[in-house]
Amino acid sequence: ELAVKNLKKQFGDNTVLHDNTFTIEDGEFFTLLGPSGCGKSTTLNCIAGLERPTGGSITVDGTTFVDQEKGVFLQPEERNLGMVFQSYALWPHMTIAKNLALPLNIRKVDKAQQKTLIHDALDKVGLADLSGRYPHQLSGGQQQRVALARALVYSPTMLLLDEPLSNLDAKLREQARAWLKRLQTDLGITTVYVTHDQDEALALSDRIAVMSGGHMMQVADPHSIYERPATPEVAAFVGRCN
Ligand code: ATP
Ligand code: MG
Repeated sequence: ELAVKNLKKQFGDNTVLHDNTFTIEDGEFFTLLGPSGCGKSTTLNCIAGLERPTGGSITVDGTTFVDQEKGVFLQPEERNLGMVFQSYALWPHMTIAKNLALPLNIRKVDKAQQKTLIHDALDKVGLADLSGRYPHQLSGGQQQRVALARALVYSPTMLLLDEPLSNLDAKLREQARAWLKRLQTDLGITTVYVTHDQDEALALSDRIAVMSGGHMMQVADPHSIYERPATPEVAAFVGRCN
């Protein structure tokens, strides 16, 4: 379980997260949904350790990632999380296999084991036979899957995905949605997903947190959010027309 308590973030005197409290269950596909600038990426980056919150705490299964009051802060690499960002940036001069080897080198995994882990990770996204190719020899959708394989290669405890499909055109995005959901269900891995796309959130999520102006307006399953939006703002954003 991931427990976020009173998470607060200020940039100067601009408060972009206002004391948000929520929990994410093991194996859950949890989505942060909201318009541009509402604080989705900042929330995810606080979980990842890429941003340090101004206040509050984040705990995973009893391990404190950060607690401002207690002065605890784990570095990103100490959190064992898999991350994929909007600009997923594979190294263009390295083969797919080499791209996946990088996080393993950092973790000092020996070469023989690396080979197995790389094969297994690429197999999970259906690209095991393309490991010798360079990124430019793959389609956008395939590159996206490689980025996901790279995030999975060291068996993270959780996946953090920040608009990972937004570089893809509409048709590819639809396909990517389907296999992403299947993969997440098969692996049973806890996933925190960021998007501003309502349809994507409704299709993929076990639960959705709708954010606005740094506040969490509603945290609920897609059906409840759609049928019983907590505020007119949520209703407007989720696109229910009555
Ligand atoms: P988008 O959908 O456009 O990616 P978002 O919901 O991910 O938006 P955030 O990136 O979390 O939004 O930004 C929340 C607010 O914090 C915005 O007003 C943004 O300008 C501000 N912000 C984010 N990062 C910084 C920073 N490093 N310094 C100052 N302000 C920042
Ligand atoms: Mg963002």
